Amino acid sequence: MRRSLVVGNWKMMGSRAGVTKLLEELKGYLVASDRASIAICPPYVFLPQVSEDLRESGLRWGSQNLSQYDEGAFTGEVSASMLKDFGCDYTIVGHSERRSLFGEGDADVAAKFVAAQSARLTPILCVGESLQQRDSGDALEWVKQQIIAVVDVAGIDAFADAVVAYEPIWAIGTGKTATPEQAQQVHAHIRGVIASLHPGVADSLRILYGGSVKADNASELFANPDIDGALVGGASLIAADFAAICRAAE
Ligand code: PEP
Repeated sequence: MRRSLVVGNWKMMGSRAGVTKLLEELKGYLVASDRASIAICPPYVFLPQVSEDLRESGLRWGSQNLSQYDEGAFTGEVSASMLKDFGCDYTIVGHSERRSLFGEGDADVAAKFVAAQSARLTPILCVGESLQQRDSGDALEWVKQQIIAVVDVAGIDAFADAVVAYEPIWAIGTGKTATPEQAQQVHAHIRGVIASLHPGVADSLRILYGGSVKADNASELFANPDIDGALVGGASLIAADFAAICRAAE
């Protein structure tokens, strides 16, 4: 039985005052549960505040990105060990915004995945197709290639301590959600790809869905056997909505 996971990706949103308020509200709505893990990924600069405020809450936190390098002259970068130092459990790698806006390719994503695990952070590896790829029937093969690019570098055993997030690009921040059937099809495919290499790892791998998850569509997504939770963007900035999604995952 896989434990559900709901992760909030705050993206580049917020202010010190806004974060204080949102964390207070979240702590009011959410209590730690045996059935679902909950984490938020704020912008780097808010990690000290988040790690302090959520210390006793049972809620966890992570980053939206990390450097593939350990230390050195890499201006503007943040390493996995620095994130661990601030209590992060998770880090998102390969979000489609990083791939499309900041030019991260599969090799960068794989290097970041490995760097995360070397500091005992759990990478949340994002994969997903564009609308054009979906329309031309290439979605399943594309997602498989994105997974294999990381398996080739990190090894299949590394997926025992990782999370995969299926995020169709056309559904991110657009208000268009994949139907539960579309999402389940890709999730089952991802699990099948991993199972063909290591059935045990596939059984325990948590595969999250991301793409306009809201309080009113979360339950029907989570009802599917291969959907183990969600990576939530916009709705994670509204405490009541994020809490409702977390409850649906329990
Ligand atoms: C995301 O940023 O990973 C995401 C899924 O965003 P949204 O929920 O806003 O579509």
